[in-house]
Amino acid sequence: MGRIHVLDDHLINRIAAGEVVERPASVVKELVENSLDAGARSIEIVAEAGGKRAIHVRDDGSGMDRDDALLALERHATSKLRRPEDLETIATLGFRGEALPSIAAVSRFLLRTAPHDGEGTEVEVRAGKIVAVRELGLPRGTTIAVERLFANVPARCKFLRADSTELAHITRVVTHYALAHPDVRFRLEHAGRRLIEAPPAGRLEERIAQLKGPAFVGALLPVELGRGAVQVHGLAGRPAESLPRRTAQHLFVNGRLVQDRVLTHAIHQAYGNTMPSGRYPAVILFVDLDPALVDVNVHPQKTEVRFRRGGEVHDVVRDAIAGALSVAGAIPTLSELRPGALPGGRPSAAGEAAARYLELHEPRPVATGAASGGSSHRASPAVHGEPPRAAAGAEAAAADGSSLLREMEQGSGATARALAQYRDSYILAQDERGLLIVDQHAAQERVLFERFLADADRDRVEVQRLMFPQTVELAADERVVLEQEADEFRRLGFSFEPFGGDTVRLDAVPALVKELDPAVLLRELLGEAGRSRSARSAVESLRYRLVTTAACKAAIKINHPLNPTGMQRLLDDLAATGNPTTCPHGRPLVFRLTLEEIERAFHRR
Ligand code: ADP
Ligand code: MG
Repeated sequence: MGRIHVLDDHLINRIAAGEVVERPASVVKELVENSLDAGARSIEIVAEAGGKRAIHVRDDGSGMDRDDALLALERHATSKLRRPEDLETIATLGFRGEALPSIAAVSRFLLRTAPHDGEGTEVEVRAGKIVAVRELGLPRGTTIAVERLFANVPARCKFLRADSTELAHITRVVTHYALAHPDVRFRLEHAGRRLIEAPPAGRLEERIAQLKGPAFVGALLPVELGRGAVQVHGLAGRPAESLPRRTAQHLFVNGRLVQDRVLTHAIHQAYGNTMPSGRYPAVILFVDLDPALVDVNVHPQKTEVRFRRGGEVHDVVRDAIAGALSVAGAIPTLSELRPGALPGGRPSAAGEAAARYLELHEPRPVATGAASGGSSHRASPAVHGEPPRAAAGAEAAAADGSSLLREMEQGSGATARALAQYRDSYILAQDERGLLIVDQHAAQERVLFERFLADADRDRVEVQRLMFPQTVELAADERVVLEQEADEFRRLGFSFEPFGGDTVRLDAVPALVKELDPAVLLRELLGEAGRSRSARSAVESLRYRLVTTAACKAAIKINHPLNPTGMQRLLDDLAATGNPTTCPHGRPLVFRLTLEEIERAFHRR
C-alpha cells in the first residue's frame, strides 16, 4: 500500500480556509468583495460577538440562480475568470473561487440569493457539506450568514482575540471598502448598535466625513498626479497631524485594498523627516494603473500585489504626495491645527525621548579642551547664516517647491516678512495670505536639522578634532554596532580607531555636538542604532537622534531676544529648507492666521 493519497475536497477546503480566513474580518472582507463584484449599490453587514458568533452580509447585487448558487460553493468555482489570459487583466476583486467554500468549511453557513425579485434559493451548509436547498421568494440580491466561525476548528478558535479586537478589524475592513466605493451605501451593525452608516456619497471627501468626521477631512490635503501609466489620487494628512499607528492609511491599487511596501516606502519618502519615527500620516490613496502592470495573484487573501514597474509606481506616489504637501496650503491655519492630532498637543514619543535625553546629558565642556582647538566656528545658530550656503539651499528648496519660498517669490511684496518678536519666543511675520506665527526654537531646529542631513549626505559634515583623543570602553554589543555602522558614524563626523581590546580611540566628533561629552554621546548613539531592527532604520534613527539632539542643543532658545535681522534670517533659512511646517520632533512650527480669519473675527465678512 502506498502512503500517499489524495485529500478529499472537504479537507482541502479546510486547509484553504486557513489561508483565506484568518479571523472574522477576513470573512467580512471576502463577502464584501463579492458583493462589490456583483455590482451592489447597498451593502449591510451585521455582526455579533466580534463576528465570532455571527456575520451577516446582505447586498442588492446581481444575485445567483439556483445552479450558480450551488456551484459557488464548489472549490475553484468562479464567474470571474475563464481563460489564463484573464488573470493578466483581472478587474474584479475576487478570481480564485476559494472564499465561499473555504468559509463554509469552517462555519455554519447559509446562502440566500435571487437574480430577480421574487425568485430565490436558499442553501444551507454544515461543516462544508450542503445539507439543504430550498426555493424561496426573495428580493434581488444576496445574503450570506456565517455563524459560529471556527467552532469546528478548535485550533483556529484559540487564536481569535477579544470581541472588541475582532470588531476593530471588521470596522477597519468596512471602512476601507466604504472609502474605495463612496457611491455604494455601507452599513455596519454590531450587537444591535449602528457603527457605520454611510449613504451613497458624491465625493470622496463626503464619504470620509461620514466615516471619520468632518474635522478629519478639513485636515487633509488633496493629492493628484498622473504620469505615464500610473494615476494617483486621494488625500494626505499634514505632517503635524501624525498618528502613532498606520490606522489612518488606506491604500488601494485598482480599487483593491492592499498592504504594500513599495507604497508605504513612497509615502515615507514623501514625508521625509517631517514625520518623526514611529508616527504615521493619514493617507487615503488610490493608485490606478493598467491591470497588466500589477500582479494581484501573489497572496491567498489578495492583500499583496506585485508591480511590474515598481520603481515607476513608487516615484509617482512619492511625487504626488510631496507635491500636495509642498503647496502653499501646507502651512496650517490656527483652526487646522487640531489639538487632538497629537495627544494633548504634546510632542511625539520621539520628541519626548529626545527631550529626556537632553535632560540627562546637560552639556559639559569637553574635558580634552577641544574647544580651544583653533576653530572659530561655533555651532551656534546665528553663525549659520553663511551667505553662499544659504543661497545654495534656497535654490535647492526652490527646485522642490518649498512653500514659504514659493509664496515669497509670488509677486512683489509677497515675502514672509518678519514684523516683531513676541515674548522673546515667537516671530510674527506676514505674507500675502496672512499673519504667520513662528516658534523660533522649533524653526531653528528644523533649519539645523536639514543642513546637517544635507551635509551628511554630501560627506561634508563639519568635524571637530579632539585635541586630546579620548578612549572609550565599549561593551561587546556596542562594538558590533560600531563596526556595522562604521561608515555612517564617519559620515556623521565621528573619527575613531580601534585601541586594543574593548576600547576605541575617539579623535573627532561632529562640530555640531562638540559641547557634549563625546563618550556619552557615542554610547547613546550606539544604543540607538542597536535598537533598530533593520540596517536602514539603524542609519536613520542614528541620524535622527544625533541631529535632533544637536539641533535642539544649538538652536536659539525660547526666551531669546532676536533683532530684526536675526528674525528675518531665520525666516529665510526656514524657507530654504523645503520642510517648513514641523520641527524634527514632528511638532508644528508655524501657523497662519489668514486675512479671512482675521476679518471674520472682526465681523468684516
Ligand atoms: P471568487 O470571488 O474568487 O469568484 P468566491 O468563492 O468568493 O470566489 O465566490 C464564488 C462565486 O460566487 C463568484 O465568482 C460569484 O459568481 C458568486 N458570488 C459570490 N458572492 C456573490 C454575491 N454576493 N452576489 C452574486 N454572486 C456572488
Ligand atoms: Mg470572492
